[in-house]
Amino acid sequence: MAVKLAEEWFAICGGCEVTILDVGEPLLDLLQNIEIVHMPVLMDHKIYGQKGEKKEIDIPEADIGIITGGIRNEEHKEIAKKMREKCKTIIAMGSCACFGGIPALANMYNIEEIYNKVYKETKTTDPGDPPNQDIPPLTDRVYAIDEVIDVDIYLPGCPTSPDVVADALTALLEGKPFELPERSVCDDCPTKREKKAEISLRRPLQPIIPAGQKLEETRCFMEQGFLCLGPVTRSGCGGHEKVPRCIKAHMPCRGCFGPVRKGMNPMVEMMSALSSIGLDAKEIPDRRATFNRYTGAHGKLRPLPR
Ligand code: SF4
Ligand code: SF4
Ligand code: SF4
Repeated sequence: MAVKLAEEWFAICGGCEVTILDVGEPLLDLLQNIEIVHMPVLMDHKIYGQKGEKKEIDIPEADIGIITGGIRNEEHKEIAKKMREKCKTIIAMGSCACFGGIPALANMYNIEEIYNKVYKETKTTDPGDPPNQDIPPLTDRVYAIDEVIDVDIYLPGCPTSPDVVADALTALLEGKPFELPERSVCDDCPTKREKKAEISLRRPLQPIIPAGQKLEETRCFMEQGFLCLGPVTRSGCGGHEKVPRCIKAHMPCRGCFGPVRKGMNPMVEMMSALSSIGLDAKEIPDRRATFNRYTGAHGKLRPLPR
């Protein structure tokens, strides 16, 4: 009997849904054993009934419930609770769902500041009042899914890796648990380390690696002065190939897979990683946002006292 799957998306860009398609050929095998019963990106299944006739959110029962995106409004909260009620296993897919992601950078500002910026102060906008009819009110901040409901499986990344999606779904279909190992991006990075920076911090405005040079022959990007969040970021983005995605593309890691372990504070750990090789974190102009670019929920980013 096919395993039933429901999917919902909240404060997102849609990239995580594209990652499901990026699974490619193995997806065809998986789909033989999966029946998709609810997925707004694929099917027109309206949550209040096809004609809006239902008073309560209607999501079908499912074995697996995938949620992408963080929680930004009251309707997201209600749908998340309904998904938890109807789905046996909940997967938070993508950094937005796992830690708030890029939308949670807004947690550095209160709602009034955000409304003023968007509806009144932007140069290209005719000032007006924020809309308040027929749309759900915003929550006070962006929440990760597990701040509202229990989550069983986390597939972080912006977006997560197609191999990670395929492995997690395969494990579930086989009745096995799934968890990414607690390894850092540095653990899977092939660059050479000497544990000392050769220069102070700088921006990667030119190619980090000369043309034709292999990663194995290249000095660690951070030791070359390019800020890389590899030491504090969970590995997994490289999928079965293991080499981290950005490193393979000759760019430093920006931290999208989130902390190596639950509860770890990327900002504190990163300050210590920088100072251990002789770099000064104070040279980074916006440390709070830079170190929590994808992890602003869970109280990591808050408005500063004015
Ligand atoms: S995690 Fe990244 S790719 Fe996925 S929905 Fe959020 S912003 Fe988009
Ligand atoms: S800091 Fe970045 S470049 Fe250096 S080893 Fe770690 S992941 Fe690789
Ligand atoms: S290298 Fe870092 S930023 Fe790039 S995909 Fe992997 S975890 Fe995300």
